[in-house]
Amino acid sequence: MNSSDRRAVALSGVDLADAHELLVRSCEDCACPPSGGTAARALPALPAGPLVRARELVECRVDDEFVALFNPDGNGGVVIVNREGRALLDHFSAPAELAETATGAAAEAAVLRLFAQDILHPAGTAPSPRFEESTELTAWLHVTNKCNLKCPYCYVRKSDDAMTRDVARDSVDALVRSATKHGFRSLRLKYAGGEASLNAAVLLDLHHYAQERCDAAGLTLSAVLLSNGVAIGKDLAAALKDHSIRIMISLDGIGEAHDAQRPTLGGKASSALVLRTIGRLLETGLSPHISITITSRNVDAVAPVVRFALERDLTFSFNFFRDNECSAGFADLQYEEQAMLTGLDAAFAVIEENLPRWSVLGSVLDRGQLLAPRRRSCGVGDDYVVIDQRGGIAKCHMEIGDTVGDVRTTDPVLAIRDGSRGIRNLLVEDKQGCRDCTWRHWCSGGCAAATFRATGRFDVRSPNCTIYRTIYPKAVRLEGLRLLRHAAR
Ligand code: SF4
Ligand code: SF4
Repeated sequence: MNSSDRRAVALSGVDLADAHELLVRSCEDCACPPSGGTAARALPALPAGPLVRARELVECRVDDEFVALFNPDGNGGVVIVNREGRALLDHFSAPAELAETATGAAAEAAVLRLFAQDILHPAGTAPSPRFEESTELTAWLHVTNKCNLKCPYCYVRKSDDAMTRDVARDSVDALVRSATKHGFRSLRLKYAGGEASLNAAVLLDLHHYAQERCDAAGLTLSAVLLSNGVAIGKDLAAALKDHSIRIMISLDGIGEAHDAQRPTLGGKASSALVLRTIGRLLETGLSPHISITITSRNVDAVAPVVRFALERDLTFSFNFFRDNECSAGFADLQYEEQAMLTGLDAAFAVIEENLPRWSVLGSVLDRGQLLAPRRRSCGVGDDYVVIDQRGGIAKCHMEIGDTVGDVRTTDPVLAIRDGSRGIRNLLVEDKQGCRDCTWRHWCSGGCAAATFRATGRFDVRSPNCTIYRTIYPKAVRLEGLRLLRHAAR
């Protein structure tokens, strides 16, 4: 920016023509948040009458010239402004008309962006978050309980038990019936396990059948394979591409950092196999999403994986280790708060150096995001169903042994919405410590399973609260940098 240029500049997601396609939600390994809008939206018309700045704004300094703005009581998205844009905002500390504060196309464009992201609002009408009704049913299909790795943080008690073709088809029938009955418009399937690729024939048959059934029922189908990336051969890669099945690969470090927490059954290194698979997928024309689980063992080694992903234009997301019964024997996995913050700072620095076109607002905040407000941190108890390899229905994959029905006899959505049984995914307002938090509509109090494991209660804030409160402003700043780097101006 030329210092002699006194025009106000404000940039938001609308200034990235293809922004709506680039937003990644951190939901690939977990329950998706209720489906809803994204930060990218069309610019509205400016209303008649005076505007005023929102009461509680988050302001993050980006550099000497620019500030990133976010309204935690609004509907998501960041606006980055230069000094003149920031000064323009000050004119609206008290209600004012645009014509009273500034003239010219640049000022009008800046005000429009500030208004569109709820930084400014009509006097007397403060913005309120729109909590969108969910229209997509997400199902975790546990196609096998078998795995070829022995990760210490895994919550699955493995066995050789695998889903049969009949159970897979019964599961699809139940899901399609239930989705239709409860008014969902789309079905999202997550092929998981164990290692789902070990039961590839059933998985592909299931997907083919699901496509037929969804087409007939008028539902949109999407699917993702959650894989450790050890054994996806060329044929399976080609089949996944043919069927438009997305792939998420777990990669927790490059080399030793990955191997320290993702060894093979025989205790050998697996990272070379995973990197070979990622290369194979890229050659096939598939871009896997990289899922990075952070424990104390790899907290110093997240930044190199982020660099690896960004250099290949791959999306990625962070998942903080969640303590569970199976991992209880590995006390060294639990991270220290300060170590996590230091590791994340290093990863954020790599993102800053290699800013992607897609937004990281949905992928670097563990179970939180800054794309669309919500009152629960995931879809458990609402629009998320887990089906085990025998057809048992559960509310959360971390509680897969705690079944609440069977696909042959039970309506899956009805079963997981029964609040009297199993995990309770409370509204953020019902969590002690969260009600007055700036980030409540974005964090929603964290993962219910992890909070219960740490505290024995569902109605309290996340044990990661301090980490979350520290990294949210940093994510706002990164989004500001992305807009500055990639938005048209
Ligand atoms: S867990 Fe902490 S950061 Fe999250 S909503 Fe609750 S108080 Fe806010
Ligand atoms: S309760 Fe936690 S582990 Fe279970 S789906 Fe929700 S966020 Fe994921």
